[in-house]
Amino acid sequence: MFKSLEEAKKFIEEEDIKMVDFMMIDLNGRWRHLTIPADRFDEDTLRNGIGFDGSNYGFAPVEKSDMVFVPDLSTAYIDPFMEIPTLAMIGDVYVISVPENYRFDQDPRNVAKHAEEYLKNTGIADEMIIGPEFEFHVFDHISYSTEPHQSGFKIDAGQADWNKNDEEDNLGYKMPHKGGYHMAPPQDVLYDFRSRVTMLMENQGIKVKYHHHEVGGPGQLEIEVEFGSVTEMADKTMMTKYLIKNQAIAEGRTATFMPKPLYDEAGNGMHIHMQLFKDGKPLFYDENGYSQLSDTAMYFMGGILKHIKALCAFTNPSTNSFKRLVPGYEAPVTIGFATANRSSVIRIPAYAKDPDKKRFEVRNPDGTCNPYYAYAAILMAGIDGIKNKMDPVEAGFGPYDFNLYTLSDQDKVKIKSLPKTLDEALDELEKDNEFLTESGVFPERLIELWLENKRADTKKHTQMPTPMEFDMYYDL
Ligand code: GLU
Ligand code: MG
Ligand code: MG
Repeated sequence: MFKSLEEAKKFIEEEDIKMVDFMMIDLNGRWRHLTIPADRFDEDTLRNGIGFDGSNYGFAPVEKSDMVFVPDLSTAYIDPFMEIPTLAMIGDVYVISVPENYRFDQDPRNVAKHAEEYLKNTGIADEMIIGPEFEFHVFDHISYSTEPHQSGFKIDAGQADWNKNDEEDNLGYKMPHKGGYHMAPPQDVLYDFRSRVTMLMENQGIKVKYHHHEVGGPGQLEIEVEFGSVTEMADKTMMTKYLIKNQAIAEGRTATFMPKPLYDEAGNGMHIHMQLFKDGKPLFYDENGYSQLSDTAMYFMGGILKHIKALCAFTNPSTNSFKRLVPGYEAPVTIGFATANRSSVIRIPAYAKDPDKKRFEVRNPDGTCNPYYAYAAILMAGIDGIKNKMDPVEAGFGPYDFNLYTLSDQDKVKIKSLPKTLDEALDELEKDNEFLTESGVFPERLIELWLENKRADTKKHTQMPTPMEFDMYYDL
């Protein structure tokens, strides 16, 4: 929003801004906030930054935890949820050093920017344009406990009176389970919620393509946005999640991007559409190619498919992610590509026919990813594919123009599967990370840290008794 401190100061004065809030992205892809009174926002803040404890963000070890962040003026916006007028902006993280501080290489924004620069330097393309699709659930109420002795949770996916228990009064309009796709009010009681979020997003410069109720009924929603470049889109992903979650709270509800909040209902994906451009020209179109895809698009896809198992460690980095990647719910299970096929991990939309719209979507990612790492990792896999001319057809990744949930025994042997657990994805990343680290875009220390951090999750997941286990085993 601003190009200079003067501009920002003028705005602060004119709009009577009282606080300036800074958001930094932690290892897991969450915003952390630190706020200063607006009159403290000065030259020194921009030159030397503000100190913080990096160890609490999941990054630096405690003995080296002093870090600084420097606000990025171009990301400034007015936070619509703060009662006190608050100007907010994203901070870039630096390591303290004399005489000059230097950019912290593991900072998610740094990794994403670095990946974009790397693409440019290869000469392959000027930029990758991506479009994530946001699927999420909105619940009326959720309570849970992670105390070891009371592990359990309770969700009220009620959404409104009509879906309360049958003994209670209801208005008779029920959204069918698994039947919520494009439902209208009165079944869809979250219509206005989505419109309000859409308006908030547009106010923050995020252009919305459309919003709708998703198939998981009731309460699974989707908002799709116009495409943008990698770091820009990661910033917008953070913003979108912030707006959705806070608007839900403002309406007495709660929103989650958990990939599989409800058993036997559709899960929440965050499919990512992508295109490459050079000198303003799209690189993915060739009228004679499979599904009108160019060789460049095929190789890019080949790279993603080759590294997809390792990529899952960044694109699907929660234990819950793998409860979504099961047959039957339009989430991918096997590794392959095809046109118009929602059971395959890469889908080429049949309706995107124009050369400058030609693209494909990668369907495995979900909203628990750190978007900066996830988008950057996909880009790095694609670049590797182009550099090494990885033909996805030769590699046996398709095209698979049939339902991949119901494979014949013959195909089952041929077609490879995505990892079935987070542990398996982490094993893959451990074996296959050169495409990320060799160029220096992903620091090796980041891969180690990621593995350590996510292994801690899988340990908790396998060792903690769950409510379901009480259900199945209490009485054995
Ligand atoms: N919800 C599905 C998923 O988990 C995707 C549905 C769709 O194609 O939009 O990926
Ligand atoms: Mg969808
Ligand atoms: Mg999609």
